[in-house]
Amino acid sequence: MPETPAPAETSPKPAAAGAPTLSAPQKALRKLGLVRDIDLALHLPLRYEDETRLTTLAAARDGEVVQIEGTVTQQEISYRPRRQLLVTLDDGTDTCTLRFFTFYPSHQKVLAVGARVRVRGELRGGFLGRSIMHPTVKAAGSELATALTPVYPTSAQLPQAYLRKAVVSGLQRAALDETVPAALLQHLRQTLPGLRGPLMTLREALQFLHHPGPDVSLAALEDRSHPAWQRLKAEELLAQQLSQLTAKRERDALRAPALAVSPGGLPEQLLAALPFALTAAQRRVCTEIAADLARPVPMHRLLQGDVGSGKTVVAAMAATLAIGAGWQCALMAPTEILAEQHFAKLIGWLEPLLAPLGKRVAWLTGSQKKKQRAEMLALIASGEAALVVGTHAVIQDQVQFKQLALAIIDEQHRFGVAQRLALRSKMGEGIAPGAHGATASEPHLLMMSATPIPRTLAMSYYADLDVSTIDELPPGRTPIVTRVLSDSRRQEVIERIRVQVAEGRQVYWVCPLIEESEVIDLSNATATHAELSAALNRAHGPFRPDVSLSKASEGPALPTQGLVPSPSVEGETERGDVASAAQGDAPVLVGLLHSRMPVAEKKAVMSLFSGGHMGVLVSTTVIEVGVDVPNASLMVIEHAERFGLSQLHQLRGRVGRGAAASACVLMYTPNEGGRLGETARERLRAMAETSDGFEIARRDLEIRGPGEFLGARQSGAPLLRFADLATDGHLLAWAREAAQSMLDQHPAQAEKHVARWLGTRAEYLKA
Ligand code: ADP
Ligand code: MG
Repeated sequence: MPETPAPAETSPKPAAAGAPTLSAPQKALRKLGLVRDIDLALHLPLRYEDETRLTTLAAARDGEVVQIEGTVTQQEISYRPRRQLLVTLDDGTDTCTLRFFTFYPSHQKVLAVGARVRVRGELRGGFLGRSIMHPTVKAAGSELATALTPVYPTSAQLPQAYLRKAVVSGLQRAALDETVPAALLQHLRQTLPGLRGPLMTLREALQFLHHPGPDVSLAALEDRSHPAWQRLKAEELLAQQLSQLTAKRERDALRAPALAVSPGGLPEQLLAALPFALTAAQRRVCTEIAADLARPVPMHRLLQGDVGSGKTVVAAMAATLAIGAGWQCALMAPTEILAEQHFAKLIGWLEPLLAPLGKRVAWLTGSQKKKQRAEMLALIASGEAALVVGTHAVIQDQVQFKQLALAIIDEQHRFGVAQRLALRSKMGEGIAPGAHGATASEPHLLMMSATPIPRTLAMSYYADLDVSTIDELPPGRTPIVTRVLSDSRRQEVIERIRVQVAEGRQVYWVCPLIEESEVIDLSNATATHAELSAALNRAHGPFRPDVSLSKASEGPALPTQGLVPSPSVEGETERGDVASAAQGDAPVLVGLLHSRMPVAEKKAVMSLFSGGHMGVLVSTTVIEVGVDVPNASLMVIEHAERFGLSQLHQLRGRVGRGAAASACVLMYTPNEGGRLGETARERLRAMAETSDGFEIARRDLEIRGPGEFLGARQSGAPLLRFADLATDGHLLAWAREAAQSMLDQHPAQAEKHVARWLGTRAEYLKA
């Protein structure tokens, strides 16, 4: 098969949209998003093969990829250790063995004794002489390639040779005229001080990257520092900035209710009623939010703050701004447990202030009884519910707001693109034309996240957002001590739990995350639950759950897996049960929480834990977000090596919320070799070394790249394919400025540029 690109006329063409039948490789092209000529032209090689020169065996080193020509002197099929074709090749300087485990009669024919062939592959040394496994073979004497041969990212259904041809013809057909105005290119040229000579044009850069000449530095191509790469990366970043800036400007053109604050209004009343004073950081972000809400343009703001930094109260302040101005506010959380916690907290803070106004806080979730739900929907539709708290039930069809002015999304990165788009359109309906004399408009949007976005990411993927940061924890927190321990020290950890519980403290134990199987997750958690129940209650003999607690449908919902000592669950939840239990030699209550449990059971377990009745809570990662139990002082994470860095940080943030000294134990299970993988080790080291969420996020970005941070954006939005935020900060800075001026002065070019780079994917960036 010829390895050099065929002429354009005979080469495959990506099938036109709607074409009746696609061949397998054509389908594969589509799957890779290679639909238009420009998509192919922008599909750049991963690496290159050098077929431009021949070497001799005498000059070649072991381990090198070589291209040699020689004569076949021997051919045999050997059956040991398994069936293989062995061919001896003599190039005049030395001999080597060509080895094929899969081969066809055609191989035997081409490699007949006496044939002169050109082979290419990795030369290996060895006890029995040098060999090349599965070399590519063609007749000797044909012309050598004049450019390096590109190797493209591809898929199993798409042969490299087919893709190469497709790219050659795509490159030839694509319109590659410059979209970036000359003045901006001039500026780009100046940001590349190492560059000699003029900037490459887009066409030159692409031609070069697809088919670089033989004398180019492979290192500069591989680390993407070559001027051609710089040019491409700059273009890519510009497209990203343009699309985000466009989304931002489109939003800026929309109307939203301007929420004015009057002196002595609800926000001031809330501040006065809170049991604590806001931190300086909380006050600052509240001011930023208030300034946005006062404008007749929809806010689109991300509030980021480390776990425990106090975002909920900021949300409450924002809600009072909306409610005080006579509007409704919705708060949406990703899980029912979290939504319920918010609900409890917000009711406590807000209901005393709302009652005199004849307003209420409503509650919406998927698991709600029909009757209650209908009641809530009526409250929302009439406007009596000034604040609506819930899960994504808040954005379902039946929900009709009377006058929604502000939507708050907690843990926004946990929501998918579809949910976010649904929210936006829901919010649009929320404001009836004419309400408060407004014409059709949109509510303000506040997104909250405990995963801080590193600066470079905020500047690139989140460029369309305004960001507020709470960079300070409330006073009186004690730092969390983090220990990394091997699973072999499990007994010590259990002892430590016993001590904590005896002191009246509470403990979380988070079980392994095994992505492939929820069932295994569950059985691990169940086993650990049994183990801890037994170990912590050894004095009492085997522990039996209270048999009266059976079906959730009869009477109050109670956990069947949590071991419940007393029937009073819905009653007063005094702190100190755990302490008295331990001291009075009463059993230690160990609860279990996992995602497969019915919601009612989850809630019952959670309320036992947050009420202080339960000493230990064994959980899969359902507690990951948001739960707030200040009396919990020890977090044990089993198989910590399987969690991501930000996830570990979030989990750790569940403790250290009260005044008690808190600790986090990261237990890992070494692999068979008694070792831990490199990235796992790096993660655990980072956790032990710092508790600063921003530092953690920065290291996570280093270890794993940007995908983790993008949450919702990740699934639909084009990640940067070429630019690397770690090394291309200078190009990003250029792209940010260039995007502003291009949108102002050359909007048509800007649109063309975005279409070229992002095609249909640009829409996702608006979610
Ligand atoms: P997160 O930012 O992780 O959502 P929360 O809003 O749950 O944090 O707040 C964590 C805890 O800190 C809560 O118990 C909350 O009531 C408390 N808190 C928030 N702000 C302050 C403050 N300024 N002073 C004291 N405690 C505060
Ligand atoms: Mg929170």
